[in-house]
Amino acid sequence: MHELGIVSGVVEVCAKSAREAGASRVLSVRLRIGDMAEVMDESLRFAWEALTEEEPLMRGATLEVEDVHPASICLDCAEEFEHDRFHLRCPVCGSADTVLLRGRELEIASIDIETEDD
Ligand SMILES: [Zn+2]
Repeated sequence: MHELGIVSGVVEVCAKSAREAGASRVLSVRLRIGDMAEVMDESLRFAWEALTEEEPLMRGATLEVEDVHPASICLDCAEEFEHDRFHLRCPVCGSADTVLLRGRELEIASIDIETEDD
């Protein structure tokens, strides 16, 4: 389950930024995940529940996920097109010679924190 490793990294980065920002706790974290990153939502949330519990600053923080739908460009006809995880061929000329433009994202979009002053 690579979701555990992903979440572990995310929790570490968020806790560190929250600490540096003088936050008393992290309220929510928004991740941007491409459909091609092969992340299972259920496993991700399971790992989130387990790992945020162990980090005092992250306890109770909610996880929001923003899906990024894949898009590619065709190297034969330059068509840019959106597709799902399995259909990577160019819809215009049928070429399989395509390059993924987006859809493999796995990044922290935003972190919502609470400080003592709030
Ligand atoms: Zn094409």
